[in-house]
Amino acid sequence: MGSSWRSSGSGADAGPVQQAVEAQQMRVDEAWRAYTGHTRKCTPCATGIDCAKAQTLKAVWRATKAT
Ligand SMILES: [Zn+2]
Repeated sequence: MGSSWRSSGSGADAGPVQQAVEAQQMRVDEAWRAYTGHTRKCTPCATGIDCAKAQTLKAVWRATKAT
């Protein structure tokens, strides 16, 4: 098939609720990657202290999870 959507599993009968859950999970993953991606490159964060930027990214991740 020419679908660009993820091909894992059949997924043909995934309802709107399931799709919303997957979209939500992707946003949470994205927010988490933004946070961890920052902490890897940031010197203060590498020492275990979340800098202002990291705290903002973490807050975004928490807010996304809670949505
Ligand atoms: Zn940082």
